[in-house]
Amino acid sequence: MKSTPVPSLQSLVGSKTHGYTDGSYRLDRTIRAESGYDLVVAGGGPAGAAAAICAGRLGAKVLLVESTGCLGGMGSSGLVTAFDPMANGEQTLVGGFMLELVEAMYARGFMSPGIDPDRWRKKFHCWSPFKVEGLKLMLDEFALGAGVEVRFFTRVIDADADAGNGRVNGVVLTNVEGYTYVKARTFIDATGDAILADLCGVACREAGRDTPRIMPSTLPSLFTGVDWSVPRDYEENAYLPRALEDGHFTQYDRHLPGMSKVGHQVGYLNGGHLFNLNALRCRDLSDGVIWGRKLALEYMEFYRKYVPGCASIEHVTTASLLGIRESRRIVGEYELNIHDYLARREFPDQIGVFNKFVDIHPYDCSREEYERLCREIRHTGRLNPGEWFGIPYGILVPKGWKNLWVAGRCASSDVQVHGSIRVQPAASMMGQAAGTAAVQSLRSGRPAAEIDTEELVNTLRARGATLPQQNLSRTRTTQ
Ligand SMILES: Cc1cc2nc3c(=O)[nH]c(=O)nc-3n(C[C@H](O)[C@H](O)[C@H](O)COP(=O)(O)OP(=O)(O)OC[C@H]3O[C@@H](n4cnc5c(N)ncnc54)[C@H](O)[C@@H]3O)c2cc1C
Repeated sequence: MKSTPVPSLQSLVGSKTHGYTDGSYRLDRTIRAESGYDLVVAGGGPAGAAAAICAGRLGAKVLLVESTGCLGGMGSSGLVTAFDPMANGEQTLVGGFMLELVEAMYARGFMSPGIDPDRWRKKFHCWSPFKVEGLKLMLDEFALGAGVEVRFFTRVIDADADAGNGRVNGVVLTNVEGYTYVKARTFIDATGDAILADLCGVACREAGRDTPRIMPSTLPSLFTGVDWSVPRDYEENAYLPRALEDGHFTQYDRHLPGMSKVGHQVGYLNGGHLFNLNALRCRDLSDGVIWGRKLALEYMEFYRKYVPGCASIEHVTTASLLGIRESRRIVGEYELNIHDYLARREFPDQIGVFNKFVDIHPYDCSREEYERLCREIRHTGRLNPGEWFGIPYGILVPKGWKNLWVAGRCASSDVQVHGSIRVQPAASMMGQAAGTAAVQSLRSGRPAAEIDTEELVNTLRARGATLPQQNLSRTRTTQ
């Protein structure tokens, strides 16, 4: 890679420090620079991995920057080892890269033992648990196969952007080698928290700042020693009331998503809500993992004592990433809203279709909040078998930006639709679409908001996406 000096960036930490009376510092340093990339993707979760791999397969020179040591994001470092439903009871909704990934994992024995492929190909409201190392391996192989340069243990910490003109010129990375300025032609933010978009000055909505409440986080765990042959109620919530009445837990949390089978004796636990944490504050993240580790032990004791088949379970590990459900979302060229969702709206430029219910976990331990969740899951926030709603292209494009896209949890929607599309299969569909759109933009010379959406839909269809709309449009849907 060509390395040329660039002017020092004012916001960087550096060798010369200037203190100010308000307690801030201006630190200047000249850092090394790289160029030559068509696309830089920030974050290698389900959205970023799909974006980078799909763009690489289309011939782009891609750098994928990931702060942990593996791809998969919440699905790997976050130990969220189950894919949300990908079908609606009648047909597969999530095709394309995500379906390819699951089918490849299944062929290699990386899905949960004994799992029936109908779960992801056809069934309604059915999760598909998997083995976490399998996901990491498959994504490594796909990324290498697509010619993507993956840089692990590297964070995007700053951006060189022209907000007035809606263009990003480069990003600043940090890793064991120090700081690097990387210039590229296009950028995708798949950090989950819209870190890059925020650094660029994109308009964003933050939970707790622009909305009154923040969905709780959870620190998932892996357990071993589970005897899955012992019959038990489908939902562990059935065993909770007694434990809550016994005063087993330090908080009266009525909602337990539960433990899924991911190995012959291994279970992945999604349990223990961490309320009122702001994922955009390091103090909260730090307090959150400490609190999460304590809760994981409480849940281990709960399973041992109250849940059949779990008397001898052992705790293997908690996740190395805190499980964030909600933090920051961009304001996009289109903001998908609950009216679109409830209308089962079809968009000519939809880049994915989905069926998941509005899954907003209780904001606190009150009975009212738990009952709200149950109501939404069963009635008001749920589509029926056979139904779907569309995800339009514009939710991936920050309003007014020309060479920047986002994909995944930080895409543009209201809080309620976010409760549906924040999960792995939807993130992956958005990632594939963003990566494909970036390549199309590079080839056509058109800015993000003006690419030919008919061409985009047809490219995605050719790569296996389920996009059932009859009417296509060459321009994106506007609000
Ligand atoms: C407890 C919990 C349970 C869940 N259960 C399910 C489930 O059962 N099924 C399901 O499908 N989904 C589930 N989800 C949702 C789902 O896992 C996430 O919302 C989804 O992974 C979002 O994908 P993403 O790619 O947008 O972000 P993420 O998966 O969060 O990936 C973002 C990636 O970006 C990296 N990153 C962040 N900042 C930077 C930076 N500055 N520089 C470089 N890299 C950076 C992170 O390390 C991470 O790898 C759950 C979520 C939680 C929290």
